[in-house]
Amino acid sequence: MGLILFPAYRESEKPRCPFCGQPFGRPPEIKPKYEGDFYKWVCPCGAVGAYDTTGHNLGDALMEAIAFAYDDDWEKALAMEADKDYEIKYLDSYHAGDHRVLGGKTYKSGLGAFVFVKLKNLKFLH
Ligand SMILES: [Zn+2]
Repeated sequence: MGLILFPAYRESEKPRCPFCGQPFGRPPEIKPKYEGDFYKWVCPCGAVGAYDTTGHNLGDALMEAIAFAYDDDWEKALAMEADKDYEIKYLDSYHAGDHRVLGGKTYKSGLGAFVFVKLKNLKFLH
């Protein structure tokens, strides 16, 4: 248990929704029970975020986020097209311990990542 010097917290490193810039809270530490068990939530702007603790399963996290955005209707989700029906944005280099996004190309191992999906026709839902 050595002394850990935390770098000064920078506002720019606060994790934010890439669509609206709204900061989001620390995602719960999830121990996936099975593969593809990602924490998902909905930003106030309507974007769905999915958290990949390892940063290596973003493709799966993306699919879950898309399905989640379509009320878990996978058939519908799979029929939709990126850029046409929804937009995808990524946020990586997330340090869960500090709850901040490391800028630049510091180091990658052990960092999490997020993928955000926002439907272009939100008014058709709900
Ligand atoms: Zn947002």
